[in-house]
Amino acid sequence: MTITPLGIDPAQCFIGGDWIVPMGADTLDLINPSDGSTLCAIARGQAEDIDRAVAAAEAALDGDWGRATAVERGRVLARIGALVLENIEELARLEALDVGKPLTQARADVIALARYMEFYAGAADKLHGATIPYLDGYTVYTLREPHGVTGHIIPWNYPMQIIGRSVGAALAVGNSCVLKPAEEACLTALAFAELAHRAGLPAGALNVVPGIGAEAGAALSAHQGVQHMSFTGSVGVGKLIQTAAAQNVVPVTLELGGKSPQLVFDDADVDAALPFLVNAGIQNAGQTCSASSRILVHRSRYDEVVSKMAARYGALRAGPAMDDLEVGPLVSARQREIVEGFIAKGGDLEVAGQGQIVADAPTGGSYVAPTLFAGVTPDHTLAQDEIFGPVQVVIPFEDEAQAVQIANGTAFGLVASVWSDSGARQMRLAKRLRAGQVFINNYGAGGGVELPFGGTGLSGHGREKGFEALYGFTALKTVAAYHGGTE
Ligand code: ADP
Repeated sequence: MTITPLGIDPAQCFIGGDWIVPMGADTLDLINPSDGSTLCAIARGQAEDIDRAVAAAEAALDGDWGRATAVERGRVLARIGALVLENIEELARLEALDVGKPLTQARADVIALARYMEFYAGAADKLHGATIPYLDGYTVYTLREPHGVTGHIIPWNYPMQIIGRSVGAALAVGNSCVLKPAEEACLTALAFAELAHRAGLPAGALNVVPGIGAEAGAALSAHQGVQHMSFTGSVGVGKLIQTAAAQNVVPVTLELGGKSPQLVFDDADVDAALPFLVNAGIQNAGQTCSASSRILVHRSRYDEVVSKMAARYGALRAGPAMDDLEVGPLVSARQREIVEGFIAKGGDLEVAGQGQIVADAPTGGSYVAPTLFAGVTPDHTLAQDEIFGPVQVVIPFEDEAQAVQIANGTAFGLVASVWSDSGARQMRLAKRLRAGQVFINNYGAGGGVELPFGGTGLSGHGREKGFEALYGFTALKTVAAYHGGTE
């Protein structure tokens, strides 16, 4: 069934530049989380389809794509970026239907995807090795080479952004990619493959196999033809991916989420901080790896921050993606149940603020009212576990030392932010906070594609985004040439 003018067929895989019926021709239903209806059937790719995709990726490396120069790779990526922007409304519509993302947020994701293409287009011919002074008679230099076939397993929360940062960087340095999107949301991944093809990306350089994690995903992460695995998703599946990749001794990049804090000190500009404090928790209905789910506030500003955040929560509306409100539905009924379970664990905690599900929201949609808990102790489940829903907790602290202890006191370490006027404190905390990104008097810095991103602890390892990602998608080769010493 063709459900889009972009011409994709979600019941098929995109392999070797062609739409191909998956082995067994099995499909899964794709659900619209705004009303629970079935959007379309999607391909249920099997291990055999992953085999075919890896073979197509290997053929591309032996063919035009493997021979393309860095400049040519950059040009293709630039054309893909332009085509993505030309199709912004259609891509945003697909993402809104599929993920439940309010349209404005879906459009921002399309722009981010295009920005990744632009950034990596420009970066493609700027990655280079080094020459190394060595013994008399030698010339030594390094080459940065693609791994070969790279596997990419992505989640449903930001399909376009994650494709941009992972596939974009991998292609820029000459890898061929096999992408397994999430079963909950795969339409924009397929649309992206079609657009990349139209932009002139050689057949096989990017292959997309939709399907179930335990089937197509497991087959990809264990495939002996894959030389690097990138995964964004849950901690549990991240461990499975790393274990599978270990059997083939291939490198893995894992981005597994977090429990990211914002620290509000006594000298903070609370009014400037407020939109960031709340938006970082409710954007994409809180289904964001780098969501800020913990707000740590100095005792002297605690009541003020809680009441101002509560007022904002009171104005939040959750409703259908196409209504473009502040909050959409969660991606699935399963995800809603998980988040409702967490809210129930709030027990007798103080609900300081709550948004509303709009009255005419379809009953089949996966809506959760955004909820703010106050007076939460740092060891409470709601302050320790990743909720992945529009839920934030506010925790008071007495001094800087305690703030750092609470901030660093989870198993995660993805993002943190410091709200304070003191330059000395900003510098101290930037060093002491356990996180892959620290923001000072902001949160997220607009999501910049240029900024290396990744975590520590259960948040994962390896860095995506920015120029840094290119190192992860290449292997360094040292060449030592002996030509004899000075005569
Ligand atoms: P969530 O719990 O938020 O849905 P997951 O980590 O389960 O996140 O899913 C992220 C991605 O990992 C999806 O593309 C999913 O299909 C895939 N996946 C799930 N289970 C496995 C598995 N056993 N092996 C490989 N990939 C998997």
